Amino acid sequence: MSTLAVIGSGVAGLASAVLAANRGYDVSVFEANSMLGGKAGEIREAGFRFDRGPSLFTMPEVLDELFTTCGKNPSDYYSYSRLPVITKYFYPDGKVFHAYAKAEDFAQEFERVFGERSDHVLEYLYHAQKVFELTDEVFLRHPLRKAWRYIPKHVLPKAASLRRLKAFTTLNALHKKFFTTPEAIQLFNRYATYNGSDPYRAPGTMAVISHLEHNHGAFIMDGGMHQVVQSLIQLGKELGVDYHTNSPVEEILLEGRRACGIRLGDKKHLFDWVITNMDVQPTYNKLLPSVKPPQKVLSQEKSTSALIFYWGVHGEHSDLDVHNILFSADYQHEFDALRNGKVSDDPTVYLYISKKHIPNDAPDEAENWFVMINVPHDSGQDWDEIVARAKDNVLTKIESMLGITLSSSIQYERVWTPKGIESDTSSYAGALYGNASNSPFSAFFRHSERNPSLKNLRFVGGGGHPGGGVPLCLLSAKIALDSL
Ligand SMILES: Cc1cc2nc3c(=O)[nH]c(=O)nc-3n(C[C@H](O)[C@H](O)[C@H](O)COP(=O)(O)OP(=O)(O)OC[C@H]3O[C@@H](n4cnc5c(N)ncnc54)[C@H](O)[C@@H]3O)c2cc1C
Repeated sequence: MSTLAVIGSGVAGLASAVLAANRGYDVSVFEANSMLGGKAGEIREAGFRFDRGPSLFTMPEVLDELFTTCGKNPSDYYSYSRLPVITKYFYPDGKVFHAYAKAEDFAQEFERVFGERSDHVLEYLYHAQKVFELTDEVFLRHPLRKAWRYIPKHVLPKAASLRRLKAFTTLNALHKKFFTTPEAIQLFNRYATYNGSDPYRAPGTMAVISHLEHNHGAFIMDGGMHQVVQSLIQLGKELGVDYHTNSPVEEILLEGRRACGIRLGDKKHLFDWVITNMDVQPTYNKLLPSVKPPQKVLSQEKSTSALIFYWGVHGEHSDLDVHNILFSADYQHEFDALRNGKVSDDPTVYLYISKKHIPNDAPDEAENWFVMINVPHDSGQDWDEIVARAKDNVLTKIESMLGITLSSSIQYERVWTPKGIESDTSSYAGALYGNASNSPFSAFFRHSERNPSLKNLRFVGGGGHPGGGVPLCLLSAKIALDSL
Protein backbone atom coordinates (compact mmCIF):
# COMPACT_ATOMS: atom_id res chain seq x y z
CA MET A 1 0.00 0.00 0.00
CA SER A 2 1.42 3.45 -0.96
CA THR A 3 1.84 5.87 1.92
CA LEU A 4 0.79 9.51 1.68
CA ALA A 5 1.34 12.46 4.04
CA VAL A 6 -0.92 15.49 4.08
CA ILE A 7 0.63 18.65 5.56
CA GLY A 8 -2.12 20.73 7.14
CA SER A 9 -5.75 20.06 7.93
CA GLY A 10 -7.58 22.89 6.18
CA VAL A 11 -10.67 21.89 4.25
CA ALA A 12 -8.52 20.98 1.23
CA GLY A 13 -6.09 18.90 3.32
CA LEU A 14 -8.91 16.98 4.99
CA ALA A 15 -10.65 16.40 1.66
CA SER A 16 -7.39 15.20 0.07
CA ALA A 17 -6.88 12.76 2.95
CA VAL A 18 -10.37 11.33 2.51
CA LEU A 19 -10.07 10.97 -1.27
CA ALA A 20 -6.61 9.40 -1.01
CA ALA A 21 -7.70 6.93 1.70
CA ASN A 22 -10.70 6.03 -0.42
CA ARG A 23 -8.31 5.14 -3.24
CA GLY A 24 -6.37 2.83 -0.99
CA TYR A 25 -3.48 5.04 0.18
CA ASP A 26 -2.29 4.75 3.77
CA VAL A 27 -2.82 8.39 4.80
CA SER A 28 -1.46 10.48 7.70
CA VAL A 29 -2.42 14.14 8.26
CA PHE A 30 0.02 16.39 10.12
CA GLU A 31 -1.47 19.58 11.58
CA ALA A 32 0.60 22.26 13.33
CA ASN A 33 -2.28 23.31 15.62
CA SER A 34 -4.10 21.46 18.36
CA MET A 35 -7.32 21.83 16.36
CA LEU A 36 -8.08 20.48 12.89
CA GLY A 37 -9.77 22.58 10.21
CA GLY A 38 -7.53 25.63 9.67
CA LYS A 39 -9.57 28.72 8.80
CA ALA A 40 -12.72 26.61 9.01
CA GLY A 41 -12.10 25.85 12.68
CA GLU A 42 -14.46 26.85 15.46
CA ILE A 43 -14.39 28.64 18.80
CA ARG A 44 -16.33 27.28 21.77
CA GLU A 45 -16.04 29.45 24.85
CA ALA A 46 -18.20 30.91 27.61
CA GLY A 47 -21.28 29.10 26.27
CA PHE A 48 -20.86 30.52 22.75
CA ARG A 49 -19.93 28.72 19.54
CA PHE A 50 -18.49 30.60 16.58
CA ASP A 51 -17.42 29.46 13.15
CA ARG A 52 -13.92 30.85 13.08
CA GLY A 53 -13.76 31.77 9.39
CA PRO A 54 -16.19 30.67 6.68
CA SER A 55 -19.88 31.21 7.29
CA LEU A 56 -21.66 31.09 3.93
CA PHE A 57 -21.98 27.68 2.30
CA THR A 58 -22.25 27.58 -1.48
CA MET A 59 -21.97 24.76 -4.04
CA PRO A 60 -22.90 22.07 -1.49
CA GLU A 61 -22.98 19.54 -4.32
CA VAL A 62 -19.17 19.58 -4.33
CA LEU A 63 -19.09 18.29 -0.76
CA ASP A 64 -21.93 15.86 -1.46
CA GLU A 65 -20.04 14.49 -4.46
CA LEU A 66 -16.97 13.87 -2.32
CA PHE A 67 -19.02 11.72 0.06
CA THR A 68 -20.83 9.85 -2.71
CA THR A 69 -17.46 9.21 -4.44
CA CYS A 70 -16.49 7.42 -1.23
CA GLY A 71 -19.71 5.37 -1.38
CA LYS A 72 -21.29 7.29 1.49
CA ASN A 73 -24.62 8.97 1.94
CA PRO A 74 -23.91 12.65 2.78
CA SER A 75 -26.99 12.87 5.00
CA ASP A 76 -25.44 10.30 7.35
CA TYR A 77 -22.72 12.90 8.07
CA TYR A 78 -24.28 16.36 7.82
CA SER A 79 -27.36 18.27 6.80
CA TYR A 80 -27.89 21.74 5.45
CA SER A 81 -30.73 23.91 4.29
CA ARG A 82 -31.20 26.69 1.77
CA LEU A 83 -31.48 30.13 3.34
CA PRO A 84 -34.81 31.81 2.42
CA VAL A 85 -33.17 35.22 2.93
CA ILE A 86 -29.51 35.02 2.00
CA THR A 87 -28.45 38.38 3.46
CA LYS A 88 -30.17 41.34 5.04
CA TYR A 89 -28.57 44.58 3.81
CA PHE A 90 -28.66 47.84 5.75
CA TYR A 91 -27.78 51.06 3.92
CA PRO A 92 -26.54 54.27 5.61
CA ASP A 93 -29.65 56.18 4.45
CA GLY A 94 -31.92 53.77 6.34
CA LYS A 95 -32.94 51.52 3.42
CA VAL A 96 -33.21 47.84 4.35
CA PHE A 97 -33.00 45.20 1.63
CA HIS A 98 -33.74 41.46 1.88
CA ALA A 99 -31.77 39.33 -0.56
CA TYR A 100 -34.43 36.67 -1.05
CA ALA A 101 -33.34 33.28 -2.31
CA LYS A 102 -36.01 33.14 -5.02
CA ALA A 103 -34.74 35.14 -8.01
CA GLU A 104 -38.15 36.72 -8.75
CA ASP A 105 -38.60 37.87 -5.12
CA PHE A 106 -35.02 39.12 -5.06
CA ALA A 107 -35.58 41.13 -8.25
CA GLN A 108 -38.88 42.56 -6.97
CA GLU A 109 -37.16 43.69 -3.77
CA PHE A 110 -34.82 45.87 -5.88
CA GLU A 111 -37.83 47.56 -7.42
CA ARG A 112 -39.55 47.99 -4.02
CA VAL A 113 -36.56 49.30 -2.03
CA PHE A 114 -34.39 51.11 -4.58
CA GLY A 115 -36.61 51.66 -7.61
CA GLU A 116 -34.23 49.48 -9.68
CA ARG A 117 -36.19 47.69 -12.39
CA SER A 118 -36.59 44.01 -11.60
CA ASP A 119 -35.89 42.98 -15.21
CA HIS A 120 -32.39 44.55 -14.89
CA VAL A 121 -31.73 42.15 -12.02
CA LEU A 122 -33.05 39.09 -13.84
CA GLU A 123 -31.04 40.00 -16.95
CA TYR A 124 -27.93 40.36 -14.82
CA LEU A 125 -28.48 36.99 -13.15
CA TYR A 126 -28.90 35.43 -16.59
CA HIS A 127 -25.66 37.07 -17.69
CA ALA A 128 -23.92 35.79 -14.54
CA GLN A 129 -25.15 32.28 -15.30
CA LYS A 130 -23.73 32.47 -18.83
CA VAL A 131 -20.36 33.61 -17.50
CA PHE A 132 -20.42 30.69 -15.05
CA GLU A 133 -21.21 28.21 -17.82
CA LEU A 134 -18.24 29.50 -19.81
CA THR A 135 -15.78 29.54 -16.95
CA ASP A 136 -16.79 26.73 -14.60
CA GLU A 137 -15.21 23.83 -16.44
CA VAL A 138 -12.19 25.73 -17.72
CA PHE A 139 -11.16 27.40 -14.50
CA LEU A 140 -12.61 25.32 -11.67
CA ARG A 141 -12.58 21.69 -12.71
CA HIS A 142 -9.30 21.19 -14.56
CA PRO A 143 -5.69 21.43 -13.46
CA LEU A 144 -3.79 24.53 -14.52
CA ARG A 145 -0.86 22.18 -15.05
CA LYS A 146 0.89 22.83 -18.33
CA ALA A 147 -1.46 25.84 -18.52
CA TRP A 148 0.06 27.45 -21.59
CA ARG A 149 -0.31 24.24 -23.57
CA TYR A 150 -3.79 23.79 -22.22
CA ILE A 151 -5.05 27.33 -22.85
CA PRO A 152 -5.09 27.36 -26.65
CA LYS A 153 -7.04 24.13 -26.82
CA HIS A 154 -9.75 24.91 -24.30
CA VAL A 155 -9.60 28.46 -23.10
CA LEU A 156 -9.08 30.73 -26.06
CA PRO A 157 -12.37 29.96 -27.81
CA LYS A 158 -14.06 30.56 -24.45
CA ALA A 159 -12.05 33.73 -23.90
CA ALA A 160 -13.47 35.14 -27.13
CA SER A 161 -16.98 34.47 -25.83
CA LEU A 162 -16.05 36.10 -22.55
CA ARG A 163 -15.05 39.25 -24.34
CA ARG A 164 -18.45 39.26 -26.04
CA LEU A 165 -19.96 39.01 -22.58
CA LYS A 166 -17.83 42.00 -21.51
CA ALA A 167 -16.10 39.87 -18.91
CA PHE A 168 -12.86 41.81 -19.35
CA THR A 169 -14.36 45.03 -18.08
CA THR A 170 -14.21 45.67 -14.31
CA LEU A 171 -16.97 44.29 -12.16
CA ASN A 172 -18.02 47.82 -11.19
CA ALA A 173 -18.14 48.93 -14.85
CA LEU A 174 -20.18 45.84 -15.71
CA HIS A 175 -22.66 46.65 -12.95
CA LYS A 176 -22.96 50.25 -14.15
CA LYS A 177 -24.07 48.86 -17.52
CA PHE A 178 -26.77 46.70 -15.95
CA PHE A 179 -28.06 48.89 -13.10
CA THR A 180 -29.16 52.49 -12.67
CA THR A 181 -29.16 52.77 -8.85
CA PRO A 182 -26.01 53.09 -6.71
CA GLU A 183 -27.50 50.70 -4.15
CA ALA A 184 -27.81 47.88 -6.67
CA ILE A 185 -24.28 48.51 -7.96
CA GLN A 186 -22.87 48.47 -4.42
CA LEU A 187 -24.72 45.27 -3.57
CA PHE A 188 -23.41 43.35 -6.58
CA ASN A 189 -19.93 44.90 -6.27
CA ARG A 190 -19.68 43.29 -2.85
CA TYR A 191 -19.24 39.86 -4.44
CA ALA A 192 -15.65 40.74 -5.37
CA THR A 193 -14.84 40.58 -1.67
CA TYR A 194 -15.77 36.89 -1.61
CA ASN A 195 -12.30 36.17 -2.93
CA GLY A 196 -10.53 39.14 -1.41
CA SER A 197 -10.65 41.34 -4.51
CA ASP A 198 -11.56 44.89 -5.41
CA PRO A 199 -14.71 45.41 -7.56
CA TYR A 200 -13.17 48.57 -9.08
CA ARG A 201 -10.32 46.48 -10.50
CA ALA A 202 -11.53 42.84 -10.56
CA PRO A 203 -12.86 41.52 -13.88
CA GLY A 204 -16.52 41.12 -14.78
CA THR A 205 -16.05 37.32 -14.64
CA MET A 206 -16.52 37.72 -10.87
CA ALA A 207 -20.23 37.89 -11.73
CA VAL A 208 -20.06 34.09 -11.35
CA ILE A 209 -20.15 34.62 -7.59
CA SER A 210 -23.58 36.27 -7.70
CA HIS A 211 -24.70 33.44 -9.95
CA LEU A 212 -23.60 30.90 -7.36
CA GLU A 213 -25.31 32.73 -4.53
CA HIS A 214 -28.56 33.68 -6.26
CA ASN A 215 -29.20 31.18 -9.05
CA HIS A 216 -27.56 28.23 -7.33
CA GLY A 217 -28.38 29.05 -3.70
CA ALA A 218 -26.78 29.92 -0.40
CA PHE A 219 -26.97 27.32 2.32
CA ILE A 220 -26.36 26.90 6.00
CA MET A 221 -24.96 23.78 7.63
CA ASP A 222 -27.19 22.66 10.46
CA GLY A 223 -24.19 22.38 12.80
CA GLY A 224 -22.50 25.53 11.46
CA MET A 225 -19.79 25.72 8.82
CA HIS A 226 -17.37 23.77 11.02
CA GLN A 227 -19.59 20.77 10.35
CA VAL A 228 -17.83 20.49 6.97
CA VAL A 229 -14.60 19.86 8.87
CA GLN A 230 -16.20 17.48 11.38
CA SER A 231 -17.84 15.40 8.68
CA LEU A 232 -14.59 15.12 6.68
CA ILE A 233 -12.73 14.01 9.82
CA GLN A 234 -15.42 11.43 10.62
CA LEU A 235 -15.27 10.00 7.10
CA GLY A 236 -11.46 10.07 7.15
CA LYS A 237 -11.38 8.11 10.40
CA GLU A 238 -13.73 5.49 8.94
CA LEU A 239 -11.37 5.20 5.97
CA GLY A 240 -8.34 4.75 8.26
CA VAL A 241 -6.74 8.22 8.07
CA ASP A 242 -4.37 8.99 10.97
CA TYR A 243 -4.54 12.56 12.30
CA HIS A 244 -1.57 14.09 14.12
CA THR A 245 -2.22 17.46 15.80
CA ASN A 246 0.49 19.72 17.29
CA SER A 247 2.71 18.42 14.49
CA PRO A 248 4.27 21.26 12.50
CA VAL A 249 6.08 19.94 9.44
CA GLU A 250 9.40 21.73 8.96
CA GLU A 251 10.62 20.26 5.69
CA ILE A 252 9.48 18.25 2.71
CA LEU A 253 12.18 15.65 2.13
CA LEU A 254 13.40 15.28 -1.43
CA GLU A 255 15.31 12.47 -3.09
CA GLY A 256 16.60 14.28 -6.15
CA ARG A 257 13.44 15.94 -7.48
CA ARG A 258 11.03 13.46 -5.86
CA ALA A 259 9.27 14.10 -2.54
CA CYS A 260 9.93 11.17 -0.27
CA GLY A 261 8.74 12.28 3.15
CA ILE A 262 8.56 15.03 5.74
CA ARG A 263 10.58 16.21 8.72
CA LEU A 264 9.14 17.27 12.07
CA GLY A 265 11.86 18.57 14.39
CA ASP A 266 14.69 16.07 14.03
CA LYS A 267 12.35 13.21 13.08
CA LYS A 268 12.14 12.15 9.45
CA HIS A 269 9.06 10.26 8.24
CA LEU A 270 9.23 8.61 4.86
CA PHE A 271 6.18 8.62 2.56
CA ASP A 272 5.63 7.71 -1.08
CA TRP A 273 3.56 10.86 -1.67
CA VAL A 274 3.26 14.27 -0.01
CA ILE A 275 0.33 16.68 -0.35
CA THR A 276 0.88 20.15 1.07
CA ASN A 277 -2.11 22.17 2.28
CA MET A 278 0.25 24.81 3.65
CA ASP A 279 -0.13 28.08 1.74
CA VAL A 280 2.00 28.08 -1.41
CA GLN A 281 4.46 30.84 -0.45
CA PRO A 282 5.49 29.37 2.95
CA THR A 283 5.59 25.88 1.44
CA TYR A 284 8.43 27.08 -0.81
CA ASN A 285 10.04 29.43 1.73
CA LYS A 286 9.99 27.08 4.70
CA LEU A 287 9.47 23.49 3.57
CA LEU A 288 11.34 23.46 0.25
CA PRO A 289 14.30 25.81 0.83
CA SER A 290 16.40 24.17 -1.91
CA VAL A 291 13.72 24.50 -4.63
CA LYS A 292 13.54 27.54 -6.89
CA PRO A 293 10.05 28.99 -6.31
CA PRO A 294 7.78 29.97 -9.23
CA GLN A 295 8.35 33.72 -8.94
CA LYS A 296 5.66 34.71 -11.44
CA VAL A 297 3.03 33.05 -9.25
CA LEU A 298 4.41 34.18 -5.91
CA SER A 299 4.93 37.80 -6.93
CA GLN A 300 1.25 38.46 -7.75
CA GLU A 301 -0.73 40.92 -5.63
CA LYS A 302 -2.15 39.22 -2.55
CA SER A 303 -5.82 39.17 -1.59
CA THR A 304 -7.25 41.18 1.28
CA SER A 305 -7.55 39.81 4.77
CA ALA A 306 -10.16 40.20 7.51
CA LEU A 307 -10.50 41.59 10.99
CA ILE A 308 -13.04 39.64 12.99
CA PHE A 309 -14.58 40.39 16.37
CA TYR A 310 -16.24 37.35 17.91
CA TRP A 311 -18.68 38.88 20.36
CA GLY A 312 -20.91 37.04 22.80
CA VAL A 313 -23.70 39.58 23.03
CA HIS A 314 -26.38 39.88 25.69
CA GLY A 315 -29.95 40.07 24.34
CA GLU A 316 -31.80 38.88 21.24
CA HIS A 317 -32.07 41.14 18.19
CA SER A 318 -35.09 40.23 16.12
CA ASP A 319 -34.31 42.74 13.33
CA LEU A 320 -31.20 40.82 12.38
CA ASP A 321 -30.93 37.72 10.20
CA VAL A 322 -28.23 35.01 9.95
CA HIS A 323 -26.16 37.09 7.48
CA ASN A 324 -26.29 40.88 7.65
CA ILE A 325 -24.39 43.65 5.90
CA LEU A 326 -24.09 47.22 7.11
CA PHE A 327 -22.86 49.05 4.04
CA SER A 328 -20.42 51.97 4.04
CA ALA A 329 -21.48 55.31 2.60
CA ASP A 330 -18.58 55.42 0.10
CA TYR A 331 -17.67 51.96 -1.18
CA GLN A 332 -14.95 53.13 -3.57
CA HIS A 333 -13.21 55.00 -0.76
CA GLU A 334 -13.20 51.78 1.27
CA PHE A 335 -11.40 49.90 -1.51
CA ASP A 336 -9.01 52.79 -2.17
CA ALA A 337 -8.00 52.54 1.50
CA LEU A 338 -7.52 48.76 1.22
CA ARG A 339 -5.37 49.17 -1.90
CA ASN A 340 -3.15 51.53 0.11
CA GLY A 341 -2.83 49.07 3.00
CA LYS A 342 -5.26 51.02 5.18
CA VAL A 343 -8.69 50.57 6.75
CA SER A 344 -11.47 53.08 6.14
CA ASP A 345 -13.10 54.68 9.18
CA ASP A 346 -16.46 53.78 7.63
CA PRO A 347 -16.00 50.11 6.76
CA THR A 348 -18.74 47.82 5.49
CA VAL A 349 -19.57 45.49 8.38
CA TYR A 350 -20.53 41.85 7.90
CA LEU A 351 -22.46 40.38 10.83
CA TYR A 352 -23.11 36.63 11.02
CA ILE A 353 -25.28 35.27 13.82
CA SER A 354 -25.44 31.49 13.47
CA LYS A 355 -27.70 31.31 16.54
CA LYS A 356 -30.52 32.53 14.32
CA HIS A 357 -30.37 29.04 12.75
CA ILE A 358 -28.61 27.01 15.45
CA PRO A 359 -30.17 27.81 18.84
CA ASN A 360 -27.42 26.12 20.88
CA ASP A 361 -24.73 28.45 19.49
CA ALA A 362 -25.33 30.94 22.34
CA PRO A 363 -26.91 30.83 25.80
CA ASP A 364 -30.52 31.97 26.34
CA GLU A 365 -30.94 35.73 26.05
CA ALA A 366 -27.66 36.03 24.16
CA GLU A 367 -26.33 35.84 20.60
CA ASN A 368 -23.02 34.94 18.96
CA TRP A 369 -22.00 37.87 16.77
CA PHE A 370 -19.25 37.25 14.21
CA VAL A 371 -18.44 40.80 13.14
CA MET A 372 -16.05 41.13 10.22
CA ILE A 373 -14.59 43.95 8.17
CA ASN A 374 -12.31 43.67 5.16
CA VAL A 375 -8.77 44.81 5.88
CA PRO A 376 -5.57 44.70 3.83
CA HIS A 377 -3.21 41.77 4.19
CA ASP A 378 -0.39 42.41 6.61
CA SER A 379 2.42 44.64 5.40
CA GLY A 380 3.69 45.80 8.77
CA GLN A 381 0.70 47.88 9.92
CA ASP A 382 0.14 48.57 13.63
CA TRP A 383 -2.70 46.08 14.16
CA ASP A 384 -3.30 47.02 17.82
CA GLU A 385 -4.04 50.57 16.72
CA ILE A 386 -6.19 49.40 13.79
CA VAL A 387 -8.17 47.01 16.00
CA ALA A 388 -8.89 49.69 18.61
CA ARG A 389 -9.98 52.22 16.00
CA ALA A 390 -12.02 49.68 14.03
CA LYS A 391 -13.82 48.53 17.17
CA ASP A 392 -14.89 52.11 17.93
CA ASN A 393 -15.99 52.67 14.32
CA VAL A 394 -17.91 49.40 14.15
CA LEU A 395 -19.71 50.01 17.45
CA THR A 396 -20.63 53.52 16.33
CA LYS A 397 -21.90 52.19 13.00
CA ILE A 398 -23.99 49.48 14.68
CA GLU A 399 -25.49 52.09 16.97
CA SER A 400 -26.27 54.58 14.21
CA MET A 401 -27.57 52.07 11.64
CA LEU A 402 -29.26 49.47 13.86
CA GLY A 403 -29.99 51.52 16.96
CA ILE A 404 -28.21 48.94 19.11
CA THR A 405 -25.82 50.17 21.81
CA LEU A 406 -23.55 47.21 22.08
CA SER A 407 -20.55 48.18 24.21
CA SER A 408 -22.16 47.29 27.56
CA SER A 409 -23.72 44.06 26.19
CA ILE A 410 -20.54 42.34 25.01
CA GLN A 411 -20.06 39.41 27.44
CA TYR A 412 -17.32 37.67 25.50
CA GLU A 413 -14.77 38.94 22.99
CA ARG A 414 -12.10 37.44 20.83
CA VAL A 415 -10.34 39.12 17.91
CA TRP A 416 -8.65 37.65 14.81
CA THR A 417 -6.31 39.92 12.83
CA PRO A 418 -4.28 39.29 9.65
CA LYS A 419 -1.27 38.68 11.89
CA GLY A 420 -3.25 36.08 13.88
CA ILE A 421 -4.56 34.49 10.67
CA GLU A 422 -0.98 34.16 9.44
CA SER A 423 0.37 32.71 12.67
CA ASP A 424 -2.61 30.34 13.16
CA THR A 425 -2.88 29.04 9.59
CA SER A 426 0.45 29.95 7.91
CA SER A 427 -1.42 31.99 5.28
CA TYR A 428 1.14 34.34 3.78
CA ALA A 429 0.66 37.90 5.16
CA GLY A 430 -2.74 36.80 6.47
CA ALA A 431 -4.18 37.05 2.93
CA LEU A 432 -7.36 35.00 3.00
CA TYR A 433 -7.31 33.74 -0.57
CA GLY A 434 -3.67 33.72 -1.65
CA ASN A 435 -3.35 35.86 -4.76
CA ALA A 436 -5.95 38.55 -5.41
CA SER A 437 -8.17 38.22 -8.49
CA ASN A 438 -7.88 41.83 -9.60
CA SER A 439 -6.93 41.08 -13.21
CA PRO A 440 -8.63 39.01 -15.94
CA PHE A 441 -5.51 36.84 -16.01
CA SER A 442 -5.20 36.27 -12.25
CA ALA A 443 -6.70 32.80 -12.59
CA PHE A 444 -3.71 31.74 -14.71
CA PHE A 445 -1.21 32.90 -12.11
CA ARG A 446 -2.44 30.74 -9.27
CA HIS A 447 -0.23 27.83 -8.29
CA SER A 448 -1.51 24.66 -9.87
CA GLU A 449 -1.84 21.31 -8.15
CA ARG A 450 1.79 20.47 -8.89
CA ASN A 451 5.16 21.94 -9.65
CA PRO A 452 6.16 20.04 -12.81
CA SER A 453 9.78 19.86 -11.65
CA LEU A 454 8.88 18.02 -8.44
CA LYS A 455 7.60 14.45 -8.44
CA ASN A 456 5.20 12.88 -5.92
CA LEU A 457 4.26 16.25 -4.43
CA ARG A 458 0.87 17.98 -4.77
CA PHE A 459 -0.41 21.39 -3.64
CA VAL A 460 -3.98 21.91 -2.39
CA GLY A 461 -5.84 24.74 -0.68
CA GLY A 462 -7.27 28.19 -1.09
CA GLY A 463 -3.90 29.81 -1.84
CA GLY A 464 -3.61 27.93 -5.14
CA HIS A 465 -5.81 26.88 -8.04
CA PRO A 466 -8.79 27.10 -8.39
CA GLY A 467 -8.96 29.51 -5.45
CA GLY A 468 -10.21 30.25 -1.96
CA GLY A 469 -13.53 29.45 -0.36
CA VAL A 470 -14.67 26.08 0.90
CA PRO A 471 -16.06 24.65 -2.38
CA LEU A 472 -13.00 25.63 -4.40
CA CYS A 473 -10.72 24.15 -1.74
CA LEU A 474 -12.66 20.89 -2.03
CA LEU A 475 -12.26 21.06 -5.81
CA SER A 476 -8.51 21.63 -5.40
CA ALA A 477 -8.32 18.34 -3.49
CA LYS A 478 -10.20 16.51 -6.23
CA ILE A 479 -7.98 17.99 -8.96
CA ALA A 480 -4.84 17.02 -7.01
CA LEU A 481 -6.01 13.48 -6.33
CA ASP A 482 -7.04 12.98 -9.96
CA SER A 483 -3.46 13.85 -10.91
CA LEU A 484 -1.70 11.24 -8.69
C1 LIG B 1 -12.74 35.24 8.18
C2 LIG B 1 -12.95 34.31 7.02
C3 LIG B 1 -14.18 34.26 6.38
C4 LIG B 1 -14.38 33.39 5.32
N1 LIG B 1 -15.64 33.27 4.77
C5 LIG B 1 -15.89 32.28 3.88
C6 LIG B 1 -17.23 31.94 3.53
O1 LIG B 1 -18.18 32.54 4.02
N2 LIG B 1 -17.42 30.92 2.65
C7 LIG B 1 -16.39 30.20 2.13
O2 LIG B 1 -16.63 29.27 1.36
N3 LIG B 1 -15.11 30.49 2.47
C8 LIG B 1 -14.84 31.50 3.34
N4 LIG B 1 -13.57 31.73 3.76
C9 LIG B 1 -12.46 31.06 3.07
C10 LIG B 1 -12.28 29.62 3.55
O3 LIG B 1 -12.38 29.56 4.93
C11 LIG B 1 -10.90 29.16 3.13
O4 LIG B 1 -10.71 29.36 1.73
C12 LIG B 1 -10.67 27.68 3.43
O5 LIG B 1 -11.18 27.30 4.68
C13 LIG B 1 -9.17 27.47 3.36
O6 LIG B 1 -8.87 26.11 3.48
P1 LIG B 1 -7.44 25.56 3.08
O7 LIG B 1 -7.63 24.12 2.75
O8 LIG B 1 -6.81 26.42 2.10
O9 LIG B 1 -6.57 25.58 4.41
P2 LIG B 1 -6.41 26.57 5.64
O10 LIG B 1 -7.72 26.80 6.27
O11 LIG B 1 -5.60 27.73 5.25
O12 LIG B 1 -5.60 25.65 6.63
C14 LIG B 1 -4.28 25.26 6.43
C15 LIG B 1 -3.91 24.38 7.61
O13 LIG B 1 -2.61 23.88 7.40
C16 LIG B 1 -1.89 23.96 8.63
N5 LIG B 1 -0.47 24.05 8.32
C17 LIG B 1 0.14 25.00 7.57
N6 LIG B 1 1.45 24.74 7.50
C18 LIG B 1 1.69 23.61 8.21
C19 LIG B 1 2.84 22.85 8.48
N7 LIG B 1 4.03 23.19 8.01
N8 LIG B 1 2.70 21.73 9.22
C20 LIG B 1 1.49 21.35 9.69
N9 LIG B 1 0.36 22.05 9.47
C21 LIG B 1 0.46 23.16 8.73
C22 LIG B 1 -2.41 25.22 9.28
O14 LIG B 1 -2.17 25.21 10.66
C23 LIG B 1 -3.89 25.14 8.93
O15 LIG B 1 -4.62 24.41 9.89
C24 LIG B 1 -13.32 32.59 4.84
C25 LIG B 1 -12.08 32.63 5.48
C26 LIG B 1 -11.90 33.47 6.58
C27 LIG B 1 -10.58 33.45 7.29
